[in-house]
Order: sequence, then structure tokens, then C-alpha cells
Amino acid sequence: MLTQEVLKHQLAAPKHIVVTTHHKPDGDALGSSLAIYLWLKAKGHTVHLIVPSDFPAFFDWMPAREEIRIYTADIQANDMLIANAEMIWCLDFNNLSRIHAMENAVRNAPAAKVMIDHHLEPEGFDVFQHWDSHAAASAQLVYDFLVNVMDDHSAITTEIATCLYTGLMTDTGSFRFQTTTPEVHLIAADLIRRGARNWEIQEFVYNSSSENRLKFLGFCLLNRLEVLPEYHTALFSISRHDLNRFHITTGDTEGLVNYALSISGIKLAALIIDRTDQVKLSLRSVGTFPCNEIGKKYFNGGGHRNAAGGNSNEPLDKVVEKFKSILPAYNELLKQ
Ligand code: 5GP
Ligand code: MN
Repeated sequence: MLTQEVLKHQLAAPKHIVVTTHHKPDGDALGSSLAIYLWLKAKGHTVHLIVPSDFPAFFDWMPAREEIRIYTADIQANDMLIANAEMIWCLDFNNLSRIHAMENAVRNAPAAKVMIDHHLEPEGFDVFQHWDSHAAASAQLVYDFLVNVMDDHSAITTEIATCLYTGLMTDTGSFRFQTTTPEVHLIAADLIRRGARNWEIQEFVYNSSSENRLKFLGFCLLNRLEVLPEYHTALFSISRHDLNRFHITTGDTEGLVNYALSISGIKLAALIIDRTDQVKLSLRSVGTFPCNEIGKKYFNGGGHRNAAGGNSNEPLDKVVEKFKSILPAYNELLKQ
């Protein structure tokens, strides 16, 4: 384990550093890792940001986006960078299984690993962590790390502020979730003061749908939404054929599950999608209902209390059946 002092001391000399984040990165994964990438680069280090997979096109406007390396696009070169790095910074995940194809390369790398994250149950692969499962976003922890651990408030440039604002905004559902504390608003205010164009970020992320995506949304609402009032639960199940019919790409299904949750009286919402490799579940809940327990116990996943996920290798109809069969056991909790 490194102390803050030792970490600071190590960063005082230029290092070869890899920054990474989880598979299919979302706004917080990209925002927090780009912010750390930009900060380390500004300090004179040689830094590469390698992400395990592609990500939605509505993040293509982000600062330094063109410098992001997709791991699978050149595995050999990226493996070299990982093996030769002196430090690997891991943002917005705490279990190496979350970086999929990169897992072994990072696990076997001799580099010291730093972890900044807000998910439950860290695996413990790091020598330094800035971790708090109560934080609204990893971007909040990066802000806190730069300001209070590194004493480097002035290093938050317009670009870094923009990245952190994106992470904070997307992981709080635009400052709507219970995690949106006064502190979160104060950080957002400081980021805007430092140049984050909040209205423009909202436009880029939320108002950039294709016509197909909107028609797909209408189709799902009309034909693929099932409400189970007795269990205060609503779910979408989407087949591979549905995805192909509307030319759905990465990111197009983002936010869909929230429509199920927006129905009055609904406590638990699920989006069950037949992806090319697996069936993927997105779970959301309101209040104290722990949807991460369902993800972890039954679907090989996990997450936060109110936003979790999982996956299955069974056919779509079997996964939907299994999901429904679990509900009676949660009857009492779902009624509260
Ligand atoms: P989403 O529904 O947006 O894909 O995921 C929401 C949250 O659930 C993520 O931030 C992550 O914490 C968690 N999550 C989603 N899928 C998985 C999974 O397969 N495994 C684990 N451990 N967590 C997941
Ligand atoms: Mn996050």
C-alpha cells in the first residue's frame, strides 16, 4: 500500500502510465478516466488511455477523445504499453473482470495500480485507492482526489472540468438521483466556473439521437414493455431481431430502462436485451430496494443498490422467465 505522500513523491518524476476504465464505458467512466489522463499528461508523464471496448457516439465530442485507444483495435501494441507501464490507473471499476479482454494483461502487469472508484466490494488489486461507495460518481472522487489529496485545485482546466461534469451529470441522471448531495451541486458549480459548458454537455449527451433510435424507443414502449403491477415491477425484453430491425448500435439503448421505472408505483425496472454474445440485464430500483442483489445472486453481476446489471448465457425467453420467477421472493420488499 502507498501512502498519499509516497504517491505524490512517485508522481514528482515523469513516468510511463496507462489509464483505463471499464468495458462499454459510460459518461462517468469516460469522464473520470479522461480527466485523470489529461491531468497526468499536464504533469509531464507519458500517458496512454486504453479502454476495453467501443462506446456510444454521443461521447465523441469529449476533450481528448481522439487520443483514446480501444484495446481490441491493436491488442499487441496495447499489451506492450500495459506490460511496460510503471503505473496503471483504474477508473470507475474495482474488479478486473470489468475490463473483459484486458483483464489478464492488466492483472499480470508489474505496474503499481491506482484505483479511483465508487462501486461496492473492491477486489483489492491496487496499491493506492481513492474509493467511496457513497460517492455519486467516480468523477466526484477524481475531483476530491485532485483538490484534497493532490492539493492541485488549480490544475482543473476547462477540459478537465468538462470531463468531470459529464461524469457527474450522467451518473446522477442529470442531478436527479438520491446521490445528488449539496456537495455534488457545489462541485458542479465549481466545474461550471472553471469552464464546463453545462448546457452544451446536456445537448451533446441527451439530444443527439438518430431517427432510428427514437423510433426504436417508440416501438419498445408500445410493444416490448410489460408491467407487473402486483410486483411493482416493469420490464422490457428486446430480441436480437428488434436490435437489427432498428439498426441499434452501442448507446442506443441507454436510458431505456428508466422509462419502465418512470411509471407511477413501479419500484423495480429491468431491461433484458439479447446482445450478440450474451443476454444483458440492466436493473434499476427506487428507494431501498436492492436491485444489485438480484444482479449478483441470479445473473452473475452486481452494481449499486438502485442501478445494477448482470448477464446470462441462456436464451432470452428463459432469462425473462427466470427474472419473473424471482419476484415472489421479493414481494414484501417491493410493496414497501
Ligand atoms: P447498466 O445498466 O448501465 O449497464 O449498468 C448499471 C450499473 O450496474 C453499472 O454502473 C455497474 O455498476 C453495474 N453493472 C452492470 N452490469 C454489470 C455486470 O455484468 N457485473 C457487475 N458486477 N456490475 C454490473
Ligand atoms: Mn460511475
